[in-house]
Amino acid sequence: KTFEECGFAPELLRAIAKQAYEKPTPIQCQALSIVLSGRDIIGIAKTGSGKTASFVLPMIVHIMDQPELQKEEGPIGVICAPTRELAHQIYLETKKFAKAYGLRACAVYGGMSKLDQFKELKAGCEIVVVTPGRLIDMIKMKALTMVRTTYLVLDEADRMFDLGFEPQIRSIVGQIRPDRQTLLFSATMPRKVEKLAREILSDPVRVTV
Ligand code: AMP
Repeated sequence: KTFEECGFAPELLRAIAKQAYEKPTPIQCQALSIVLSGRDIIGIAKTGSGKTASFVLPMIVHIMDQPELQKEEGPIGVICAPTRELAHQIYLETKKFAKAYGLRACAVYGGMSKLDQFKELKAGCEIVVVTPGRLIDMIKMKALTMVRTTYLVLDEADRMFDLGFEPQIRSIVGQIRPDRQTLLFSATMPRKVEKLAREILSDPVRVTV
């Protein structure tokens, strides 16, 4: 399968070509069409598999498909990751493709002043890449609301649980409208992650690479 066969618009195909991604990786082959169809997904995949693009590219399509949502405030796409380092990598990958459409991505994790982050969020953005604790801080500071969030990604869910973020994840998910599309990626599926998936995903498709 090729990226062209996924039905991406020319702008996005050009952005993909710029990254010299010749063809989709196995996880992308499996996940892209499912996510583009609007279904929830459980992706069992490790870092290095190309999983980031498998949720970032459909997110861009999801946002561009909802022009009526662009009147409201707050992020449409929210991506949660366990660590600052991973969140930063996802943020860089997101920016490459968001740029093609002038979509604004904000990084919401430690290492940057809360005041600067607050100001950036207040200025508006369509996408946030977060670690759970810092997102909750920003919600408490009223830097953003999640009223228009309809695309939620939990990346490396098993690691988020290992690091003790289950309460924060549950709090975040509880603030996002139930008619959202939800994607959960994890290298392993321990029982606790499986339980969360059952609770927060609706009729998910499971893919394993
Ligand atoms: P990830 O597993 O998402 O962290 O991606 C691992 C690396 O593969 C990153 O440097 C990506 O930029 C790169 N990558 C993602 N998709 C592709 C692709 N289809 N072809 C070549 N490289 C890719």
